[in-house]
Amino acid sequence: MTAIPAYAAASATSPLAPATIERRAPGPRDVQIDILYCGVCHSDIHQVRDEWGGSIFPMVPGHEIVGRVSAVGGEVTKYTVGDAVGVGCFVDSCRTCPQCEAGLEQYCDEGMTATYNSRERGTGVPTHGGYSTRIVVDQDYVLRIPEGMPLDAAAPLLCAGITTYSPLRYFKAKAGDKVAVVGLGGLGHMAVKLAAAMGCEVTVLSTTEAKRKDAAALGARDFAATGDGQVFRSHARRFDLILDTVSAQHDYNAYLGLLKVGGTMVLLGIPEPTAISAFPLVAARRSLAGSMIGGIAETQEMLDFCAAHGIAADIERIGIDQINDAYERMLRNDVRYRFVIDLASLKAA
Ligand code: NAP
Ligand code: ZN
Ligand code: ZN
Repeated sequence: MTAIPAYAAASATSPLAPATIERRAPGPRDVQIDILYCGVCHSDIHQVRDEWGGSIFPMVPGHEIVGRVSAVGGEVTKYTVGDAVGVGCFVDSCRTCPQCEAGLEQYCDEGMTATYNSRERGTGVPTHGGYSTRIVVDQDYVLRIPEGMPLDAAAPLLCAGITTYSPLRYFKAKAGDKVAVVGLGGLGHMAVKLAAAMGCEVTVLSTTEAKRKDAAALGARDFAATGDGQVFRSHARRFDLILDTVSAQHDYNAYLGLLKVGGTMVLLGIPEPTAISAFPLVAARRSLAGSMIGGIAETQEMLDFCAAHGIAADIERIGIDQINDAYERMLRNDVRYRFVIDLASLKAA
C-alpha cells in the first residue's frame, strides 16, 4: 500500500478537500498509472451529492483518467512503463457472465466495479477515482491512448466519448441519418463531433441560445433553442435518432414527438425520474432506450476512431483547487465543454 494525495468529499454536503488515500501495490496483472489529467463528468456531481442514492464516503471522484504507466506486475503483457493509457468508468467485472464474454462489461450480471463510489470484488475495499495522483488497475481494464492524441483533451473520451459513441454504433447511425443531440454539455459536444464524423446530419437542441455558434463549429448542421417550445412544432417527426444528454429533469414526451415513425430516443443523462406517456411512443411506433458508457473493446475502438478523425474534447484545464467552483459552473451551464483537472496541481499542493 502507498499513501497518495487526492481530493475527496467527506459527505454529500461537503465540498471536495485535500485527502490522503491508499493505493495497492501492483499485483501480477496490475498496471500502476501516474495520473496526468482527469475530466470532470456531471456524474461526479450526481454521486458526490448522493443524487442517485447509496454513495460511499469519503469519495474521490473521477472516471476520465489519462496518465502514464509507472510500474507493471510480472504477468502484464499489454503495457510497459511510459505508455500513455486511460481508465474510464469501471476497473473490474466478473469476466465470465454473458455480458462480460460479449465485451459488454459495463452491463456485467454481477455489476461492474465502478472506478469510484464502488467496492473492489473480493475485498470490498472502496474504489477511488482520478482526482488523485495514482491509480492501480488490472491490465484488462486499461485503455491505450493513441499516438499523437493530446493527453488532456483525450481524458473526456473515457466517459463522455464512449457514452455517446456506443449508442451511435448500437443504433446504427450512418451517413445521412438525421440525429438530434439534446443538451450541449460534455456528453453533448462529443455526440455532435462523433455523429458528424459518421456522416450524420446533426441538430443540437439546447436550452442555451448562446451555444448556437459553437454547435455549428462542432459539426452540427442545425440548432434549435428549446425555450419557447416552437421547435416541438417546427421539427416534429424529423429525426431518426435522438441522444438525450440532459442532466436535469425535463419532459421526455415532448422530445419523443421529434422522432420519425420508427425512430429511437436514447437516454444518456440520468436526472431525477420523469413520467413517460405511452401516446408519443404508440402514435409513431417509436422506441425509447437507454445506454451506459461502453465496454473495454468498444472504448478502444472509439479512441482509435477519434485518432483517425482528429477528434478530442474541447476542454478548459483547471487546477484541482478549482474543482468546487468548476462544479458550480457546470450547474450554471458555464463550461465549454469539459473541465479537465491537471493533476500536476495536486502534486504541487
Ligand atoms: P454537462 O456537461 O453538465 O451537460 C449537461 C447539459 O444538459 C448542459 O450543458 C445543458 O445543455 C443541459 N441542461 C442542463 N440543465 C438543463 C435543464 N434544466 N433543462 C434542459 N437542459 C439542461 O453534463 P455531462 O457530463 O454531459 O452529463 C450529462 C448527463 O449524462 C448527466 O446526468 C450524467 O450523469 C449523465 N451521464 C451518463 C452516462 C451514461 O453512461 N449514460 C455517462 C456519463 C454521464 P444546454 O445548455 O445545451 O441546454
Ligand atoms: Zn462520466
Ligand atoms: Zn460479468
